[in-house]
Amino acid sequence: MKRAALSASRAKDFKQCPLRFRYLMVDKLPEPPSSAAVRGTLVHAVLERIFDLPAAARDEGAAQELVGPQWDELAQKRPEVHELFAEAGDVDAFLSQARALVSNYFRLENPQRLDPTARERFVEVELGSGVLLRGFVDRIDTAPNGAVRVVDYKTGKAPSPRFTEEALFQMRFYALMLWRLDGVAPARLQLIYLGDGRTLTLDPHTDDLLAFEAELDQLWDRIEDAARREDFRPRKTPLCPWCSFQEFCPEFGGTIPPIPEEGLESLLAARRSSLDRS
Ligand code: SF4
Repeated sequence: MKRAALSASRAKDFKQCPLRFRYLMVDKLPEPPSSAAVRGTLVHAVLERIFDLPAAARDEGAAQELVGPQWDELAQKRPEVHELFAEAGDVDAFLSQARALVSNYFRLENPQRLDPTARERFVEVELGSGVLLRGFVDRIDTAPNGAVRVVDYKTGKAPSPRFTEEALFQMRFYALMLWRLDGVAPARLQLIYLGDGRTLTLDPHTDDLLAFEAELDQLWDRIEDAARREDFRPRKTPLCPWCSFQEFCPEFGGTIPPIPEEGLESLLAARRSSLDRS
């Protein structure tokens, strides 16, 4: 049985709606691809590949030339993305939107002056409490003095001040993982919003990360409690229109299916006890 791990997205899902979390993490229901998500994957791939080129060649023209081949690769790997487009013209419009986002990137950064130490880095780390965290970090830059900057690309627009803390949740999650894994707390966390060419930055203090670690431990306690009681309640929020599980949601007239035992067991076995670790 694969050990369950908490990602930043699933942690946010549980906070938003425990039932949605259950469908993704316990029932493992697939979510149909959305054009926004596929566009995000494509633009991320282009911004990762641009750093394969020699520094002097990393200009906007080179990045735009990567869009077509990266799209072909993505469509080959995930044939279901074709279902998103009824007509060939729709693909053209989709690719132009992706190109506009790539163009916005060059208004914010000059990749010729960057030398990332990691791109799309897979990170998995166990906290002192035995909770396993997992995620992919878009980019890590390391300054000559060793200071680490964690960068994440978003294809949407920057949030209003009301939702800034929520947006930074994911970055604190990455910062905590990297701190626990590498022993160096990132000096800067940066979200790059390609939708409107804005950035959101936080220079976290280690006290801030310790408090965040405690918050995640408490969140996992709540998840385990819900799993033990087999009680993942729906919580209706303004984000429900984007949820793919309305047909199984009582808030929308749906019926909750029986909970799969295997997924539940994997969740309850995820946290290693201190005895397991000794
Ligand atoms: S529709 Fe809303 S309340 Fe229902 S499962 Fe999805 S997020 Fe939760």
